[in-house]
Order: sequence, then C-alpha cells, then structure tokens
Amino acid sequence: MKPQHKITLIYFLVGALWILLSDITIEWLFELGKIDQLTYHQSIKGLIFVGLTAVMLYFLIKHYYDQLANRLKELEKLNEELRVKSAELESSNKDLEQFAYVASHDLQEPLRMISGFLKLLEKYTHKELDEKAVQYIQFGLDGAERMKGVILNLLEYAKIGKTAYVYESIHVEKVLNDIWQVQQNNMGNKEAELVFKNLPVISTYKIPFTLTLQNLISNALKYKLPKQKIIISFTVEERDSEWLFMVKDNGVGIAREDFESIFQPFLRLKNDDVVTGSGMGLAIVKKNVELMGGRVWLESEVGVGSTFYFTIKKV
Ligand code: ADP
Repeated sequence: MKPQHKITLIYFLVGALWILLSDITIEWLFELGKIDQLTYHQSIKGLIFVGLTAVMLYFLIKHYYDQLANRLKELEKLNEELRVKSAELESSNKDLEQFAYVASHDLQEPLRMISGFLKLLEKYTHKELDEKAVQYIQFGLDGAERMKGVILNLLEYAKIGKTAYVYESIHVEKVLNDIWQVQQNNMGNKEAELVFKNLPVISTYKIPFTLTLQNLISNALKYKLPKQKIIISFTVEERDSEWLFMVKDNGVGIAREDFESIFQPFLRLKNDDVVTGSGMGLAIVKKNVELMGGRVWLESEVGVGSTFYFTIKKV
C-alpha cells in the first residue's frame, strides 16, 4: 500500500473509532448525566482526538521520513561508488589509449627495419638462395606488411577523440563517391554496384564520418559471397534529433551471436582467413560513431547479407 493511502486510512480508522467510542470513554472518566458538562465533554473529546491523531501522524511521518532518508543515503553511496568507478574507467581507458598510441607509434620503426633488411637480404643473396629460402623471405615480408596494417589501424583507433574536431557541412554524396572511387581502385576484378539516392548535407565531424563510411563500405566489399555481384545500398533517413544511415550488402552475413563481439578491437570471425584484415575496422567505426553522438548496430543473416545502421546526432 502506498504511504499516502496508509496514512489516510489509519487517520480515518482512528477518527471513526474515537467517534464511536468517545462517549463511553468520557462517561467512564467523568460523572454521567450532567447537561452543562456536555460542551466541556465535546471539547475534551475534540482535544483528545486531535492529540491522538497528531501523535499518530508524527510517528507515521517520522517512519516514512526515516525510510526516505535511508534510501537517499543508499543512493548517495551508490552515486559515489559510480563516480569512483567511472573515474577509474576513464583513467584506465586513457592509459590504454596512451599505451596503444605509444606502442603502435614505437613499433613502426623496428618494423620498417625488419622489412628493409629482409628486402636487402633478398636483393643481395637471392642468387645464392634456393627457392624455399626466397619463399621464406617473402613470408617474412608479407607478415611485416600485415603487421604494418595492424599498427596503423591501432594508431588510428588510439587517435580517435584526441583531435578537437569542428562541425562541418558535409555533402554525404560527395564523401561517398570519393570513398567509392578509392575502393574501386583497390577492388581488383570484383564486380560491385553502389546504390543510393537523394543524399543530404549534414553537419558533423568530417574525418570520423568519412572513416565510418569507409570501413563499412570496405567490409561490404570484402565479405562477399563467391561468384556473386556485390550490391551495396546506402540509405539515409532524417529523424527529429538524428540522422540514420544504413549500409546494406548481399555478402556472407554474420551470425546473431557475433553481433556484439565484432565491434571489439582485433576481433575477427573464424572464417576470415581468406579475407585480410586486422579486426579493427568495426572498433574504429563504433568509436567514431559515438564521438559523433550516435550508436551503431546491425541486422544480418548468414548467406544473405548484412545491414549496418548508425546514427549521428543533429547539431
Ligand atoms: P576486419 O575486417 O579487419 O577483420 P572489422 O572490425 O572491420 O575487421 O570486422 C570484424 C569482423 O566482422 C570481420 O572479421 C568479419 O568477420 C565481420 N564483418 C564485418 N563486416 C562484415 C560484413 N559486411 N559482412 C560480413 N561480415 C562482416
């Protein structure tokens, strides 16, 4: 029962009980049958009633007030714990980003040395080396190239949020066309079509927006079904306080149980050995989208295709 109902009910019950029992009580306390004492009795009855209900109200209110104060104390304690936890998280996130930045930055130099010396080794000794040794050098060079990709992605990830971006007016169609141009050059002989119409001009951070689109389009091209023309459709929907973007492909699709995990850094799905990648693309997408005040999610069916959705806060 809610406190206000309880208080009112108790008040009414005590009042009604007193009205019913007051005459007997007064008659028991005072001498009976004296008409001139009637008014006096009424005043006493009234005073006792008011006194009783006042005491009862005091205890009831005190009881609920104490309960409320306790809850408030608990809430303040929880709030404090939350503040401490979020400060810890913020500081450990900063440490992690700093670590990723330094590690990826400092790893580039030794890596350059490794590939440089491997190339020199190949150049000066390939006449004396047998086919296997040349192949091993090539494996080493491939590995170094892949590692370079991972380091650059890690560096890109660690840098997100470190730059003070400004809002810019962005022609979505222009950004999309530029990305498509670059991707087509890298695509080799994959057949692909990009479908879109009536794209808006929005205001947001240009680099995070471009990186987001670039990673989603590049994934839509990479994770294709064999012997099928890639069709990517790009749609934008205007909402009250945000823009909703959809990148839909007809590729290999993603199982439901992987919907959350694929946004984690370095996570690649088991069947990805044939497609190169560092597992950083979607982590970069998520961080950039959040920087633009939005969120990212997907719908997908294995063997049919995926749709990645992301929003951007309107400014
Ligand atoms: P990468 O592509 O470098 O492996 P991402 O973070 O971009 O890393 O993607 C993580 C994983 O999510 C990929 O390894 C892939 O398995 C899956 N994935 C991402 N985009 C798609 C897509 N459009 N279709 C199917 N699978 C995808």
